[in-house]
Amino acid sequence: MNIQMVDLKGQYEKIKNEINAGIQEVLDSTAFINGPKVEEFSNNLSTYLGGINVVPCANGTDALQIALMALGLEPGDEVIVPVHTYVATAEVIALLKLEPVFVDVHPEYFTIDVNQIEGKISPGTKAIVPVHLYGQCADMETIMKIASKHDLFVLEDTAQAIGANYTFSDGRIMQAGTIGDIGTTSFFPSKNLGCYGDGGALFVKNDELAKKCKMIANHGQSVKYHHDIIGCNSRLDTLQAAILDVKLKYLTDYTVSRQKAAKIYDELLKNIPGIKTPKTAEYSTHVYHQYTLLLDESINRDDLQKLLKDNGIPSMIYYPVPLHFQKAYKKKNTEVFSVTERLSRTVLSLPIHTEITREEQEFIVSSIIEFFK
Ligand SMILES: *Cc1c(COP(=O)(O)O)cnc(C)c1O
Repeated sequence: MNIQMVDLKGQYEKIKNEINAGIQEVLDSTAFINGPKVEEFSNNLSTYLGGINVVPCANGTDALQIALMALGLEPGDEVIVPVHTYVATAEVIALLKLEPVFVDVHPEYFTIDVNQIEGKISPGTKAIVPVHLYGQCADMETIMKIASKHDLFVLEDTAQAIGANYTFSDGRIMQAGTIGDIGTTSFFPSKNLGCYGDGGALFVKNDELAKKCKMIANHGQSVKYHHDIIGCNSRLDTLQAAILDVKLKYLTDYTVSRQKAAKIYDELLKNIPGIKTPKTAEYSTHVYHQYTLLLDESINRDDLQKLLKDNGIPSMIYYPVPLHFQKAYKKKNTEVFSVTERLSRTVLSLPIHTEITREEQEFIVSSIIEFFK
């Protein structure tokens, strides 16, 4: 068995002909920058997301940065962000000289703890950036209510949750990334919709705001050599767009494969004391970008990882050092984020991807059981 966290090769093999044809088409056209495939893919992704404006860009970090620039935030403005997330979410805030204000996360869903948001709002607060971590939505209904009450923008970091659905209390269902003012995603190869290099996109409800995002991603111009606002250079490669346009057709199948694999893990792992399988909030579906276990504090995670590794099983910790402990983001007044701090010591992500087999999962779980013997 050759178990991997993500099996990009196995996935590619199944759609090789289509992918290769898509790449060849771009090569033959030599339209490497902003070729027709970029718009085609953006339109198809827009359709997948229910018609929202899609603005492609170079990666998921840029997407967040472009979004914050488009919202017109000023240096010193405060932006609320979960402290348990990938660094990119906070990084772009700091990079633009805005102030990241950390909030702890829900102990079982791992997304921003909505009960702690209002306590962090000050007159300087301008936006909330919920992160749909590991593949399920944050509590968007509550977040949108808080945002509307305090007149804040909402920017959804959807890098890990494209395809997840959120259900409002009135029964309305919306896709992750299409609820707030702007949603952003990443097409990093290991993401649920991944290309073969870097890529990203913004989902923007308002047409004018979408135009502004598009301008910012293109040096602040909508007419060539006429730069109306300060922008950056952030493009989705035509080659990557061609790959994504093929893979988008399979995204629903990919999601189902991940959900099936999660269900198998749930079943196999359910009676192991000291291990909690991931919980899904009642308002969200889960697309399992990660399948993340919560270990009892008494379990030696290093030893468990070592045993798995000795059996040829990779596992990952997302994330081992909370943002407020990172040198770059440490504040003088040391705040305590007890849930995030505990998670950094107790989470463990198992391999999950579109190609994983029941046999592989059974082997992984039998190795975990072996650890407890
Ligand atoms: C991957 C990721 C990003 C950044 O995406 P890149 O394409 O690597 O820049 C941002 N936020 C989260 C939560 C991510 O998982």
